[in-house]
Amino acid sequence: MKLSLFNISNFRVDGGAMFGVIPKALWSRQVQSDELNTIEMSLTSPVIETEGRVILVDAGWGDKQDEKFFRHTYLHGGSGLAGGLAECGYTPDDITDVIITHLHADHCGGCFINAPGGGTVPFFPNAIWHMSRVQWEWANESNLREEDAFLPENIRPFGESGKLNLIEEPGELYRGVSLRICYGHTPGMLIPVINFHGKTMVCTGDLIPTVAHIPLLWNMAYDLLPLVTIAEKQEILQEALQNDWLLLFQHDPAHECCALSETPKGIRAGIRGRLSDFI
Ligand SMILES: [Zn+2]
Repeated sequence: MKLSLFNISNFRVDGGAMFGVIPKALWSRQVQSDELNTIEMSLTSPVIETEGRVILVDAGWGDKQDEKFFRHTYLHGGSGLAGGLAECGYTPDDITDVIITHLHADHCGGCFINAPGGGTVPFFPNAIWHMSRVQWEWANESNLREEDAFLPENIRPFGESGKLNLIEEPGELYRGVSLRICYGHTPGMLIPVINFHGKTMVCTGDLIPTVAHIPLLWNMAYDLLPLVTIAEKQEILQEALQNDWLLLFQHDPAHECCALSETPKGIRAGIRGRLSDFI
């Protein structure tokens, strides 16, 4: 198995929205905000090569929307989708599978790009799209709370692709890559768990987007069901601590991953750093 990580792009998002009920007086000790109260986020995607498959987890925002849509997103830096894959030694054609943790625009938008003559074409022409059936059906109905995140132009092409694999239950997708299903952030969010040469890593997606989101109450205001998020985090953190797993973050611009340690206040980040520091 080969495992790589790359950052598609940084972007900025309101710090208050990222930390929900946690006062700024507390979160601002962990994360720096600017004069508009925004904080820096990354779009880190793992690529896993196993059993002849090359599996990408999520594909960033993409570029199908106009400038007006992105005016509060401040996309900058990162390697881009094609550039980041190239750094890892792959082309978009090499990708056989994309695990889409959920259909919010910053996770799935890069899967399809505008076609020159109108419509869209897949950015990964040889890929199967894996997502949970619950999330697929939920996103297709959409709702007022997630209307800005579930964009029809991002979601429709999956249905028309004929290559959608809807995951019904948690379990192994390929050897060394299994999927859990969470419901607090949005119903049916996939959490990939990667077993890499005996080391287990959890790609915590929007359940624990950055290292600062490890404390149980430090959750995003975007979560639809905060109590469910807390319970899901508690379960994964306990299992990760007991079994010495690493957490991989999708939105932390400073830390790709961390180990965990037990403290009097609860489970917290232990050693943190880049994936190469751990494997
Ligand atoms: Zn999300």
